[in-house]
Amino acid sequence: MAESDNEESGVYLSLTPERALAAADRVDPELAAGAEVSPLAGVPLAVKDVIMTRGEKTTCASRTLEHFIAPYDATAIERVERAGAAIIGKTNCDEFAMGSSNENSAYCPVRNPAAPARVPGGSSGGYTPISLGSDTGGSTRQPASFCGAVGIMPTYGRVSRYGLVAFASSLGRIGPFSRTVKDSALLLGTISRPDPLDSTAANALVPDYSGELSGQVQGLKIGIPKEYYGEGLESAVGAKVQAGLDRLNGLGCEAVEISLPHTRYAIASYYLICTSEASSNLARYDGVRYSPRSESSGTLRDMYLDSRAEGFGAEVTRRIVLGNYVLSSGYYDAYYRKAQGVRALIARDFAEAYKSVDAIITPVSPFPAFKLGEKTSDPLQMYLSDIYTITGSLAGIAGMSVPCGKTPEWLPAGMQILTNHFQEQTMLNLGYAFKQAGGFEG
Ligand code: GLN
Repeated sequence: MAESDNEESGVYLSLTPERALAAADRVDPELAAGAEVSPLAGVPLAVKDVIMTRGEKTTCASRTLEHFIAPYDATAIERVERAGAAIIGKTNCDEFAMGSSNENSAYCPVRNPAAPARVPGGSSGGYTPISLGSDTGGSTRQPASFCGAVGIMPTYGRVSRYGLVAFASSLGRIGPFSRTVKDSALLLGTISRPDPLDSTAANALVPDYSGELSGQVQGLKIGIPKEYYGEGLESAVGAKVQAGLDRLNGLGCEAVEISLPHTRYAIASYYLICTSEASSNLARYDGVRYSPRSESSGTLRDMYLDSRAEGFGAEVTRRIVLGNYVLSSGYYDAYYRKAQGVRALIARDFAEAYKSVDAIITPVSPFPAFKLGEKTSDPLQMYLSDIYTITGSLAGIAGMSVPCGKTPEWLPAGMQILTNHFQEQTMLNLGYAFKQAGGFEG
């Protein structure tokens, strides 16, 4: 990609050509010798700028980390590079992954490749045909649905979070983006592993996701939660998801209506929990250790306050203030504890549902990609983008977005496949079978 293209699209925050060439140099002799190489060998891979890449800038799209050079590699990075991938750059996103449109980047917005006057979704708005993003409340799935790509949120614990800059630690996960389900399966299999460096990484066996893609979905039971198909869902998106369901039905899946009754409390619960965790995690940016220090302050206290005020954008500041309020004595029980209680109820809804279904299918977003600037002045409207994605995040289960066609305005729509903890293979098989049946077109 030429640098002038990037000025228009806003996809990359920095490029890492030396790193990419070094990876190619490692692969070339193997290829020349006719050795069998990993399918990722020499493949150019982009990485969301919230994932640590040793010796490279890792800014989280924030002024606060404008000059920060990562001192180590995330475990996922180490894994993809060991498989031969060539990391070509760090991609744009909402500041500290907080947002649903990529407009909260401190540097520049990203344009939707399918409709340049519209947002690409967020927070991982700048991704490429094969890349690593992160998903805390929808940040791989929602941009994938807005742009017509595949985006995956693995089960919490499936992929090590070591080296993922902390926003909301109990929710966030690293996950792949790709054009095809097979590429995502390959990437997910490469980065999934137990990890002594991350106590939340599960000690569970990792299947050969891409090798075991069978395309066989006959007899699978699909739950259709009625709460996700009602008020607020734009009919153009609903029609495409319904067409996708019909196609899966034609492949031998059986759809059954289910209920996830606590869905309506999810947005409130998510935004209380993620802001609480964000306010704690972001306390480390004090103008001394990582961030640029404010020049003007007299006292130490002013220096902290001014450095933070200058370093953080409006949305990050809003979340820190809200999180501190939620956690403050006197309000903790009313907000934080209650939100955690609701989270447990939402997880229980899913656990109940998975007793009788193999997967749950919903829209990814209630609407297709919206216009740049359309929702920036109304944070609540922006938060509503996440209504169908944050429940799976709160429950810790796996989810993916697969493209299911285009609306009459020719905007991509996405179908969300949610499976129980560590059931990624079923999720990938469904996406794969759907694609093989021509699910991406029209
Ligand atoms: N849009 C959600 C938020 O703003 C999700 C972000 C994410 O998954 N990182 O928090």
